[in-house]
Amino acid sequence: MLIKTAEFVKSSGKWQECPDATIPEYAFIGRSNVGKSSLINAMMNHKDLAKTSQTPGKTQLINHFLINEEWYLTDLPGYGYARVSKSTRKDFEKLITNYILNRKNLVNLFVLVDVRHTPQKIDLEFMQWCGESGIPFSIVFTKADKLKPGGAQRNVDTYETELLKTWEEAPQMYITSAEKKQGGDEILKYIEQTNQY
Ligand code: GDP
Repeated sequence: MLIKTAEFVKSSGKWQECPDATIPEYAFIGRSNVGKSSLINAMMNHKDLAKTSQTPGKTQLINHFLINEEWYLTDLPGYGYARVSKSTRKDFEKLITNYILNRKNLVNLFVLVDVRHTPQKIDLEFMQWCGESGIPFSIVFTKADKLKPGGAQRNVDTYETELLKTWEEAPQMYITSAEKKQGGDEILKYIEQTNQY
């Protein structure tokens, strides 16, 4: 998909404040520092559409971007911050879960994980919750350039094996690097194929 236009629409602190759900929507989520902003910017061919996070846990808002005047890209606040208070964390979680469960035009959720890490409990639990809630999601592995060739695929295979211990089928997986602008095209291809209402 050629990105002709990518515009910031609004930031919302509640799911009810999100733009009208009139066009297909694709959301990106992951732990802080996973490389979400970098990947969004790389995919959109934009230096600073999504703000790369200096202070983990600061952004507690849902950010909507209108792409090609056809679909929304949504940048969700990260989950699993260690450095914020329990009540702040609860607020994040409520915002995210309410958005995910109520957003009618949400086509797919892209869950980002750092390809260098072994499967983390918090990510697995989040994916489990998505599955139980009937939310379609894919896994996006980030920072593939940080591993030697073959290393990323090996880690993805390990991840898949872990998931298949509890799942009948593994979700769609993408291996990406914002740094090398890799993998984003496949995500955009999927979006292009599914964003027609
Ligand atoms: P966010 O908190 O998930 O939005 O993460 P950021 O996009 O701000 O990235 C966190 C850190 O990881 C920054 O220092 C980025 O430069 C770095 N980073 C993000 N993506 C990549 C990547 O594909 N390759 C490499 N080598 N570093 C990356």
